[in-house]
Amino acid sequence: MLAISRMKAFISSAPHVSKTTPFALLSSASSSKSFSFSPPTLFQKPNIFLPKRSIFSPQNVRCLQMEAESHQRSGEIHVIVGPMFAGKTTTLLRKVQSERGNGRNVAIIKSIKDTRYGLDSIVTHDGVKLPCWPLKDLSSFKQKFTPEAYDKLDVIGIDEAQFFEDLYDFCSEAADHDGKKVIVAGLDGDYLRRSFGSVLDIIPLADSVTKLTARCELCGKRAFFTLRKTEELQTELIGGPDVYMPVCRQHYVGGQVAIEAARVVLESQVQCAS
Ligand SMILES: [Zn+2]
Repeated sequence: MLAISRMKAFISSAPHVSKTTPFALLSSASSSKSFSFSPPTLFQKPNIFLPKRSIFSPQNVRCLQMEAESHQRSGEIHVIVGPMFAGKTTTLLRKVQSERGNGRNVAIIKSIKDTRYGLDSIVTHDGVKLPCWPLKDLSSFKQKFTPEAYDKLDVIGIDEAQFFEDLYDFCSEAADHDGKKVIVAGLDGDYLRRSFGSVLDIIPLADSVTKLTARCELCGKRAFFTLRKTEELQTELIGGPDVYMPVCRQHYVGGQVAIEAARVVLESQVQCAS
């Protein structure tokens, strides 16, 4: 009781503790005789952060507005994610073609790692084909243009974005500083549903995020995940329907169990043979 009365005295004299602060700890302490602690050490440094004065004084706000107006064009970032065969590339190309139809200058970048349909073009699973820039990393993109040509560029599409490690820096610079509209398509997760590359890192930068779904190859329901049908374990394994299939949650979980069981059988056969 002595400890509690000392504590109450301390609270009533503490200038920074609000009277409206909910003290659940206090109410439970007062109903328990065996409860004791040292109040001064608990409350010596109250963990309460009072808001500091905003740095945006009316004068600073005017400066900010002038700075914003000095950037002639406002950039945008739109992210399209989903499993394989969800139509991400098709959606990207449709958006880029629509921009081109509106008289805007567009460019499409794809990873040099994806050679499935040739390096200098991008082809959707339903056969639409557009020329593109095959690049190892995005930082080399700007160097392909003269400053004047780059300045005239309005829209940049990026396909298979999970393969670009410098995605965050590129998108930030292109949209925030260069005023470009950047449309990004890529896998949000790999075949083990782990975050793939830097695609998820750019979500905080984005104006919009669209998660597309495919059709489960086994039951026809909506598919959110990509199941690898082979036993390779590396994260990056380029392939089409021979290697991957889109699946619903139920068939993803069941499929992983079946693949793991098959792998164990294969490994035991190899050990027996050797
Ligand atoms: Zn299914």
